[in-house]
Amino acid sequence: MASQQGRHFLQIPGPSPVPDRILRAMDMPVIDHRSAEFGRLGRDVLDGIKTVFGTTQPVVIYPSSGTGAWEAAIVNTLSPGDTVLMAETGHFATLWRQIAARFGIEVDFIPGDWRRGADPAQIEARLAEDRAHRIKAVMVVHNETSTGSTSRIAEIRQAIDRTGHPALFMVDTISSLASVDYRHDEWRVDVTVSGSQKGLMLPPGLSFNAISEKALAAAKANSMPRSYWDWQEMVKINANGFFPYTPATNLLYGLREAIRMLHEEGLENVFARHQRLAAATRAAVRAWGLEILCENPAEYSPVLTTVMMPPSHDADQYRKVALERFNISLGSGLGKVAGKVFRIGHLGECNDLTLIGALSGVEMGLAAAGVPHRSGGVQAAMAVLEGQEESNTRKA
Ligand code: PLP
Repeated sequence: MASQQGRHFLQIPGPSPVPDRILRAMDMPVIDHRSAEFGRLGRDVLDGIKTVFGTTQPVVIYPSSGTGAWEAAIVNTLSPGDTVLMAETGHFATLWRQIAARFGIEVDFIPGDWRRGADPAQIEARLAEDRAHRIKAVMVVHNETSTGSTSRIAEIRQAIDRTGHPALFMVDTISSLASVDYRHDEWRVDVTVSGSQKGLMLPPGLSFNAISEKALAAAKANSMPRSYWDWQEMVKINANGFFPYTPATNLLYGLREAIRMLHEEGLENVFARHQRLAAATRAAVRAWGLEILCENPAEYSPVLTTVMMPPSHDADQYRKVALERFNISLGSGLGKVAGKVFRIGHLGECNDLTLIGALSGVEMGLAAAGVPHRSGGVQAAMAVLEGQEESNTRKA
């Protein structure tokens, strides 16, 4: 086994590496969460995070992982016996569906093969059929972290609008926020769910609901019992920069720094950087002669690339060899693609050289694990980054 000196390459699609600047910003004494000083921090992050979601409406911040924010979106707006429409984009859509089902929600789950995003035409057809308006919400995962496919949220919004259906629109941006262009207000999303540990470059532990007026009204009228996740109390107390219970103070220091960093780079530049790194990664995968799980170029993820293993080779065995030899963590296959794929994260604190280092680890790992492939992937990625290759990246 090679020595493990130097930095670990955390190339999973979240949690992503936390920049030193954010680590330093969090290295602070804990303060009184009812003090005026905290109120200023609270206002900074509660206002600042809106700019990242593309909203002027309330965004609530929970001290929880993303799963909590998934549950919050459900318990605030829906009741047992309600029907919702979801699309089987992959493992995370399947998990969100399970949570809804546990709360007695009927889920119309549009089946999928995990190789593309949610289909706007299918959503439109289902809503058009629902003349009685039984469907209370359309729930879509923006970036399906298990597959590397990104759903076209703006097009889904248009599809919903064409039917005139009043369903709420809820979107999981846990692995897309601050990496992929996203517009909560412009796309009239009612609840946007997110988390801290991916594009926001923070440790795990914060989650978010961005909430439209329509969703707030639905929550007021909703009799589903809830307490910790309840929006009403949170939104009321947030107005002064405070929280109804003890917030994750030091993560909020980190969040304030993350928002500053995103705006210093410029959100447009952040999105373009992710597209470019993703295009270079895909060039590497193709040069290796391996297949990308996502089949639709319009839905390639800017956040991660999922690579299919050649038949009869185990992706987890390969990841183990890459970790032991080169100190690089790659994402595992989840759910029904376990062992069949591995995932390369290229999000957050990632630049050209980080990516080239990571792809070198992937390529050397393929050789070390005896996985059939052609060499030259890193070279192909460099050509994209140097602008010598026409990148077939999505221009979204
Ligand atoms: N949704 C998506 C798209 C995710 O990628 C994840 C986690 O990776 C989750 C939901 C669940 O979030 P958490 O693991 O923070 O609870």
